Amino acid sequence: MKVLFLLFIILLLEINCKLPFFNLQPRNKRLSQEPNITYVYGHLNPDTDSICSALVLADYLNRTGSTNLVIPCRLGELNKETKFALKMFNVTEPKLITDPSEADEVILVDHNEPAQSLNFKNAKIVGLIDHHAISGFYTKDPINIITKPLGSTCTILYQLYKSNGIEITHEIAGLIISAIISDTLLLRSAITTIEDNYTIGNLSEKYDIQFMNYGRELLSAGSDVSDLTEEQIINLDSKAYEVNGYKIQIAFLNSVDVDSLLKERKSKLLEEINKFTEKNKKQLFALVIVDIFQFDSTVLAGGEYINAVEKAFNVTLVENQAFLKGITSRKKEVYPKLAGIFYSLPEYDNDEDNENISINIRTNWILIYLMMFLFI
Ligand code: MG
Ligand code: MG
Ligand code: MG
Repeated sequence: MKVLFLLFIILLLEINCKLPFFNLQPRNKRLSQEPNITYVYGHLNPDTDSICSALVLADYLNRTGSTNLVIPCRLGELNKETKFALKMFNVTEPKLITDPSEADEVILVDHNEPAQSLNFKNAKIVGLIDHHAISGFYTKDPINIITKPLGSTCTILYQLYKSNGIEITHEIAGLIISAIISDTLLLRSAITTIEDNYTIGNLSEKYDIQFMNYGRELLSAGSDVSDLTEEQIINLDSKAYEVNGYKIQIAFLNSVDVDSLLKERKSKLLEEINKFTEKNKKQLFALVIVDIFQFDSTVLAGGEYINAVEKAFNVTLVENQAFLKGITSRKKEVYPKLAGIFYSLPEYDNDEDNENISINIRTNWILIYLMMFLFI
């Protein structure tokens, strides 16, 4: 009897408090007649491609007979560039989410690195469409994956519409064009491919969009940081990576006047970089400020391993700053070069703290269950 009573108590605790032993919390509490939900979203600190890819893929799936209701989502506030694009094409911003396990299924776009996403351990990931290197990504079940080394995720989505004969609306064309302009810096960045050129050419002709003029306006709108704090600037387009155990953060910022920006705000930017690096235990923080008209960049570096920047780009940092001639792409130039340096170093033991915490939590629950057994 006592044993039955005890089991009953454990069952109640498991269901109500999400306790760790049996993990019986029902994934989906909704009524069965409601459609299942699929969330589509891009990375944290979302850029224009992440937001537009979520909107475009949701449109595509909802129009091609998905049995689930596909909801475009975002993991953070929109930047000014993205707001400009959505306003231009009269599109509502995606839903802000903080817990991917609310949905029955999840499709990731424009990222796959776990450090750049919400914790998706409890989410059911069923698909990935991306144009980044695969890094630290694994799934429990087989999933649909489309990755291509193109300028933007939206270029891959354009090809999906085309290959399946699905009509692209004016709004969707505007989102695709905006994402390509943003990720390729108006088709000039090193990641630009023939497919990106073809996609923009085709859509802008069909919908009579003056993409060169629109592109300059879009990029300029995104480069205005006059009303942002230094903390907001370093988080605007910032991505986390874990390479060989080293935690590195690479932030990008577009600018039309790098010299004035540095003259006015460099010391405070470095202060924020150092604060972030200490607080989040990063080994390196690189803020890459891209001159969107000259197509060069200037890096500000912080953290214990700033010499990785010097080695990667063969430059000397002067007061944590160096000029990177011709560098404009995180994906194709900055990340691979820095990753190469960190992989050449001995592996860094960064996980110790986290592991100890999770072992302690589990040990505590085991003790509680044991005590219940002894005392009831
Ligand atoms: Mg992106
Ligand atoms: Mg992208
Ligand atoms: Mg970007």
